[in-house]
Amino acid sequence: MRAMVLDEPGRPLRAAELAEPEPGPSQVLVRVDACGVCRTDLHVVDGELADPKLPLIVGHQIVGTVEGGGGSRFELGERVGVPWLGWTCGVCRYCRSGRENLCDEARFTGYQLDGGYAERTVADERFCIALPLEYPDVQAAPLLCAGLIGYRSLRLAGDAERLGLYGFGASAHIVIQIARYQGRRAFAFTRAADEAAQAFARELGAEWAGGSDAPPPEELDAAIIFAPAGELVPQALRAIAKGGTVVCAGIHMSDIPSFPYELLWGERVVRSVANLTRRDGEEFMALAPEIPIRTEVDVYELQQANEALDRLRGGGVRGAAVLRMAS
Ligand SMILES: [Zn+2]
Ligand SMILES: [Zn+2]
Repeated sequence: MRAMVLDEPGRPLRAAELAEPEPGPSQVLVRVDACGVCRTDLHVVDGELADPKLPLIVGHQIVGTVEGGGGSRFELGERVGVPWLGWTCGVCRYCRSGRENLCDEARFTGYQLDGGYAERTVADERFCIALPLEYPDVQAAPLLCAGLIGYRSLRLAGDAERLGLYGFGASAHIVIQIARYQGRRAFAFTRAADEAAQAFARELGAEWAGGSDAPPPEELDAAIIFAPAGELVPQALRAIAKGGTVVCAGIHMSDIPSFPYELLWGERVVRSVANLTRRDGEEFMALAPEIPIRTEVDVYELQQANEALDRLRGGGVRGAAVLRMAS
């Protein structure tokens, strides 16, 4: 099978011809039809996340078709989604308390487990997600991380009416649709001169969009930071009202500069969101077609994976980048 392989962080992916993976116990063999490109893939490829499996196939927003293996959960030929959370221990304190996203032993797709920048992959069927039929493969792919992590971030932002979104990429373009559906007001912050992203945010219902260095037109009740820039934390704290929450949605962020306690005072909260639970997956996949969420995708062929990653790194993707496997 064809795959794009990471030999070492900091180097471009290498196009390779590999043997097809063999499903182990409780794993399904999945033919990959599409795989979303996530900022986390960039962090792995750029060496910002410690100790990836090497060599590695990245990619954790996999839309595929079950071709073999597994037990009773999926039929042959059925479409499945393979998300970031690939395996958990099931017995630790976190797993037993509905917080499997925090399991110390967890293994993640496209990081400790081979992922979806390939024609085939294997995945533990207990962690695969059934996908809403309404979505074609490439439109479904961004739901699996951009959508899911965004959904969890929005939930943890509380019932804020005025919501700030810092970084308007794959995740924010989905979150704003959920937020609007829930009757919230959205304010989008982008890189200072990124007028295209600001226009995109307004198209999707942001009532204001501007550079992240600018203050919003009014106080916000919560903010979600998708951009991996630590300096946004004090900026977002400055923008939110007392009692508000700033959610850091990414897996990696540059250092947060020190800031006066006054910015946190008034019961403001700063928190991160880590990974997802299977329950988030079920809830979100039920909600997506109800809204209905529309994903805007920028489609690349498998062999263009490096180009897709470069484009994402440079902030040039409108919506979500997705690899499509030509079969
Ligand atoms: Zn566990
Ligand atoms: Zn992701």
